[in-house]
Amino acid sequence: MQPLRAWILRWLVPRELQADPATARQAVRTIVFALAMLLWWPIFTPVYIWLGSARAGAIITLGALSALAVIVCLGRIRSLVVAGNLTAAIVYLVLVGLASVAGGIEAAALWWLCAVPIIGLVLCGTRSGLSWAIVSALTILAFYTLHVLHVAVPHDIPADNVVLLDSLSMCGVVFCAFLLTLAFRQGEEAARQELERARDASEQANRAKSLLLANMSHEIRTPMNTVIGMTDLVLSTELSRDQREYLNIVQQSGESLLVLIDDILDFSLLEARRLTLYPQPFDMTSSICHALKALGARAQKQGLELVCRCDLAVPRVVIGDQGRLRQVLVNLIGNAIKFTPHGHVVLEVRCVECKPSGARVSFSVADTGIGIPPEKQEAIFRVFEQAEMSTKRRYGGAGLGLAISQELVQMMGGRIEVVSEVGRGSRFSFTVPLGIPGPDAEPPLVVRARPLAGHRALVVDDSAVSRDALADTLEQVGMVVARAPHGTRALELLHEAQAAAELFDVVITDAHMPMMDGFLLARRVRDDPRLPCRVIVMRAAGDVPRDEKYWEQAGVAAHLIKPVTPPELLDVLLNLLVVPTESTPRAAPQVRAPGHAEAAGGRRILLVDDSLMNQKLAATILGNGGYDVVIANDGREAVAAWQRQPVDLILMDIQMPEMDGFEATRLIREQERAAGGHVPIVALTAHALKGDRDQCLQAGMDGYIAKPLRARELLEAVASTLGADHHD
Ligand code: ADP
Repeated sequence: MQPLRAWILRWLVPRELQADPATARQAVRTIVFALAMLLWWPIFTPVYIWLGSARAGAIITLGALSALAVIVCLGRIRSLVVAGNLTAAIVYLVLVGLASVAGGIEAAALWWLCAVPIIGLVLCGTRSGLSWAIVSALTILAFYTLHVLHVAVPHDIPADNVVLLDSLSMCGVVFCAFLLTLAFRQGEEAARQELERARDASEQANRAKSLLLANMSHEIRTPMNTVIGMTDLVLSTELSRDQREYLNIVQQSGESLLVLIDDILDFSLLEARRLTLYPQPFDMTSSICHALKALGARAQKQGLELVCRCDLAVPRVVIGDQGRLRQVLVNLIGNAIKFTPHGHVVLEVRCVECKPSGARVSFSVADTGIGIPPEKQEAIFRVFEQAEMSTKRRYGGAGLGLAISQELVQMMGGRIEVVSEVGRGSRFSFTVPLGIPGPDAEPPLVVRARPLAGHRALVVDDSAVSRDALADTLEQVGMVVARAPHGTRALELLHEAQAAAELFDVVITDAHMPMMDGFLLARRVRDDPRLPCRVIVMRAAGDVPRDEKYWEQAGVAAHLIKPVTPPELLDVLLNLLVVPTESTPRAAPQVRAPGHAEAAGGRRILLVDDSLMNQKLAATILGNGGYDVVIANDGREAVAAWQRQPVDLILMDIQMPEMDGFEATRLIREQERAAGGHVPIVALTAHALKGDRDQCLQAGMDGYIAKPLRARELLEAVASTLGADHHD
């Protein structure tokens, strides 16, 4: 069939009908039926003449000539519908003519009338097919009526030969039915292939578009990084109040733009199927804590309680994509904060299943915010969809976050679900399987904090959610917990306990409470010799930092910044209650940023980047951190600089003219193999496409720092790489 189709298309279909595939297909079909009519001629004309009907032979010849005319004039006929109906009419007229000269209702030709509606249907559509079916049926009825009325119809063929003609006709009908079925099947197959081709082409086009989008956002990201990084640097210098305010606005706008660009980048990578997960062992609890801490200031600004409830049996170290899991959590918590005017946001982490081979961990973020109407709860997971059009104006956002999060969670093997009620709040939750590295990974918090079991704690907080979450954490490790909603009640409980000789070991109190705040409570406890318990104060993220003397004077044994996460709370408690401590209460140790000048100790870093702006930014950050910086503009210069002088670390951009970062790293590693030694090379790039990270490691690099460059993060990464290398 295919070669016949190609032949017809090449030789018989006029060129003007070939431009559109659908028109060409219809033209081919019309010609096939007209050709079938032509084929009749050499078969049936001799048969009819031989059987004794020269008139029938003449009718078939006329029909064949008309079919030939349709084929030849196809390009000039007004439309293919007209041509199709013309073909059906020719067949019909030939058959009626044959029946009229060869026995009326008894004529074998009437069997063929079934072909006429089929031709009408295939060439011109359902309406035409139906019309021809009615015409054919009426024709048969008309011949039958003539038969009933005994109207004599010419019968050119002798009775002996009628059976032979009937048999021949039936064979013809059966054969045609077979050919039609075959043609139909092949037509279907061709249509399927065409559909697949069209789908592939559109998918490819879509992928190309997404890739273009990914590359564009990546290109925009690079200069944005410099803008933000430079603003960061200027902000760390002496400025007037107005200047600082303006620059803060520049930085905030830059950060929002970067979030948007990151979302577009992620979305286009997902669309182009270039986004992959990089499962690695990571400390899940501390990763969750970081995500939560990063959002603490935002929650506090809105006056919200941001609370973490964590099943302490969840494995600490798991195998998964830390960055992507954190991205989903930050998105969900960020949304919850954004859409909650007052109340609280609770992150809950539970271990659904925990086996040595792997765990299923469920995360949920619940808020007391504006809620989502039921009819929108599905739509918000689609790209650019927001629950209400006014949302964009009031709360900002592009409507990409949830779509990306849903895709990421699905890639991890889970699904985000939402339960929400307008005006009461929402709860987004998902459960994902995570691997477990091995028996020597860190024990879960519940095991680590076992020495706290049996200690007595009093939790004081005016927020019931926060109070219950803290108490729940402490009870999970076996501590005996009492709760108080304010300072006065706390003092009452403390005195009652003292009278019953069941002293509390520790009081954990919120700093901000009506009437009696946490500091006043701490002072009262300090001033009462009958209450020898220690006091931990939880202060808000945005509070003005005070020096350690202040805490000591207030009688505070340690302070924590809200949102308080279980690991830090338990660490402080272990420190205070289990490890033998000095008699005077002391403040919780403050983390100091690594990368201080003295830590750098004049170590030399080779910075390889072709962008002058990036060079300036990174060199300033590293210089401020006390490092000597040597600059190379591309891979070739980098190799030469490394050969010229020893360096402690190379920060290597990837895309550079002359020689890219991969090639330069390969050359350095080759030479090291011959001469010995190993200089740590860390990729410094905004690259986020699939495989880039693997490619960096494969090329022989030791690490990967993603731009945007933030002073603190860069210095931390440099310090830890140098530290690790030093220990090795
Ligand atoms: P964006 O927040 O940037 O608009 P998202 O995809 O993260 O995009 O969210 C889509 C929409 O879902 C939001 O615009 C908002 O209408 C709705 N939404 C998401 N989270 C919440 C929530 N916690 N409470 C109320 N509405 C929400």
